[in-house]
Amino acid sequence: MATSIPLTVEGDDLWVRDVKASWFGGPDDPEDSGETASGVNTRVHPDILGCALPMQGFHHPATDRSPIPKLPWNTYVRVTNLKSNKAISVPLIDLGPSLTAASQAAIDLTETAFKQLGGKPAAGIMSVTYCIPGAARFLPADRRALAGNGLKTISLANSLGRPAAEGADVQPEPAGPEGAAGAKPAWPLQSQCDEFYGDPRGANGTYDPQWAAENLTHVPCPWVLTMGERHVPFITVHKKCAASLTRVLNNIWQAVGKDQGAIETLHYNRYDGSFVFRPMRDGHALSMHSYGIALDWDAEENPQHSTRHLFQNDSLIVTKFKEENWIWGGDWSGTSIDAMHFQAARVHS
Ligand SMILES: [Zn+2]
Repeated sequence: MATSIPLTVEGDDLWVRDVKASWFGGPDDPEDSGETASGVNTRVHPDILGCALPMQGFHHPATDRSPIPKLPWNTYVRVTNLKSNKAISVPLIDLGPSLTAASQAAIDLTETAFKQLGGKPAAGIMSVTYCIPGAARFLPADRRALAGNGLKTISLANSLGRPAAEGADVQPEPAGPEGAAGAKPAWPLQSQCDEFYGDPRGANGTYDPQWAAENLTHVPCPWVLTMGERHVPFITVHKKCAASLTRVLNNIWQAVGKDQGAIETLHYNRYDGSFVFRPMRDGHALSMHSYGIALDWDAEENPQHSTRHLFQNDSLIVTKFKEENWIWGGDWSGTSIDAMHFQAARVHS
């Protein structure tokens, strides 16, 4: 019997409630080569958090009957374990599971995501509800064609007044800050970030998941990155910084002759995070990390507020970020100094 996907449209969001989740990839899945449709390999990155959804539009007989439209890779999906109510947001990295699979699963999680949500890999499945914030706009204009596959629209009072998703075109990626081809990006002032990057503030002191779904993306690092003990397959950043960050990383990788050993000698494998929603103490202003436009590297050897730090103005990592007009916290004076920190926003005009 084919799996049914009870998809509902609620305001701008897509919901699939009370379905089974299975898991895929990782070293414990003998039938999986680790390749995914988005290009990230779950064998090379066994601890990746991610999911696969059965989407139509791939001309694949196993998923084409799904009411879920084709979504961009790295779209955020919020998955809740119905037993514990624990929820995590994970990027969409693959197509699947098959609607004819015996598991009858309506979403596939990576092994790490499955475990983080409290699932037992040996059990194979768990009951979940998932939401894809802001994804209603990817539905085709004529939704009647999908109604037979399980699509329902639920009108919500809070969706009144929002622009109709019906018939809307897929919105283009936000334009980057680069002007003419080859020009260096011109980053906004910190005070202009809400306007330039969008306002990430959501309810209850956390970020707005719709802002995150629409604005954050993942940049793979050409070398192996670690954060503490953990392997980090992607750097989460704002879409407007992604092309520039990719150039920075590729330029560093080229300069060291694509040698992981050289990277480790320089400590550039030691990564301390990018996107974290963190209001500043004065209340309204947000840390640049809250926009996904700041990255920290090797915090241990480049402690905040310290004038003693490993990274110097002529360090490869500093010169390559500066070539792309990123601001280095090591240049800041007094107690502001923060040599681990690079950001795509200017402090001074
Ligand atoms: Zn920082």
